[in-house]
Amino acid sequence: MKLLPSFTLHRPISLNEALKLLSKLEDSKPIAGGTDLLIDLKEGAYKAKHLVDLGLIRELGNIREANGLIHIGSTTTHAQLVASEIIKAKAPVLGEAASLVGGVQIRNRATVGGNLCNASPGADTATPLLVLDAQVTVASLEGSRSMPLSELFAGPKRNSLAPGELLTEISFSVPPACSGASFSKLGRRRGCTLSLINAAAYLETNGATCREARVAFGACAPTPVRIKDVEELLKGKKLDNQSIKEVSSACYGLVQPSTRVHARASEEYRREMSCVFMKRTLMEALDRARRNMQ
Ligand SMILES: Cc1cc2nc3c(=O)[nH]c(=O)nc-3n(C[C@H](O)[C@H](O)[C@H](O)COP(=O)(O)OP(=O)(O)OC[C@H]3O[C@@H](n4cnc5c(N)ncnc54)[C@H](O)[C@@H]3O)c2cc1C
Repeated sequence: MKLLPSFTLHRPISLNEALKLLSKLEDSKPIAGGTDLLIDLKEGAYKAKHLVDLGLIRELGNIREANGLIHIGSTTTHAQLVASEIIKAKAPVLGEAASLVGGVQIRNRATVGGNLCNASPGADTATPLLVLDAQVTVASLEGSRSMPLSELFAGPKRNSLAPGELLTEISFSVPPACSGASFSKLGRRRGCTLSLINAAAYLETNGATCREARVAFGACAPTPVRIKDVEELLKGKKLDNQSIKEVSSACYGLVQPSTRVHARASEEYRREMSCVFMKRTLMEALDRARRNMQ
């Protein structure tokens, strides 16, 4: 049986204290819910003598809306996303994805920041946040900076943060009334399952025509990705069952699933499912956009 290697746990109560600890302590790593990190430490994927727990830092745990933007602190748990009235009213697609992460215990512990920083190609909150065009804010002792979420993903289970940097917040614009978004996930079973593939779609409509489209896949490339070619095919198009079916079939040749990166299903199966899931997800997003306009 593999044992968890020993480490010292530090529990700062402010962001500044956490950043100082991470820059001062050799072999240190941030820990949020620990649902990925503790397994990786046990398996020997990472080594860390010091873990800096982010769980007591209040400023990282809020969801708020201000000036047309929704701000989500990085230690917000999936359960908090599901329960949030702001998310339910303004970005239900994110709550839906969070509700499909693991089981109840995992959702109560695991955080959205951990999900993104762990950078699994199939991370379930990554695809809805990509189609919401989210930005992430990163802090270090030198200050803070923002970047598009896509730039956080450097490769399978690799993020682009420099040592000593922390993800502090995820933010995105409140979607307009003429929009709808949807998320769907394929796993080996219906509940408590990791994604063999997941898809998210966001559509803005102008009558029957697509004004803006953003689509993303998880577990179909080395990182969660937006598929810009599909977005271009959708923009300006009259949206109906037939046009969505045609556009979705293009996904087959546009996704890059690799069994070396993600061994849970074959590349061929993922390509086939990318078309099925894109059609399903776009149809639902369109239906929601229409209902939101009524
Ligand atoms: C039984 C089980 C089921 C699961 N099911 C799913 C699922 O259905 N879908 C899914 O997507 N995932 C699933 N996961 C994976 C995991 O629960 C999620 O990825 C979770 O959101 C990770 O969050 P965490 O807070 O536990 O991260 P942690 O394990 O604490 O951290 C993960 C990584 O991110 C780093 N990190 C954490 N927070 C920050 C920060 N603010 N700044 C910089 N670095 C940071 C840590 O150093 C670590 O490298 C499952 C895991 C288990 C054990």
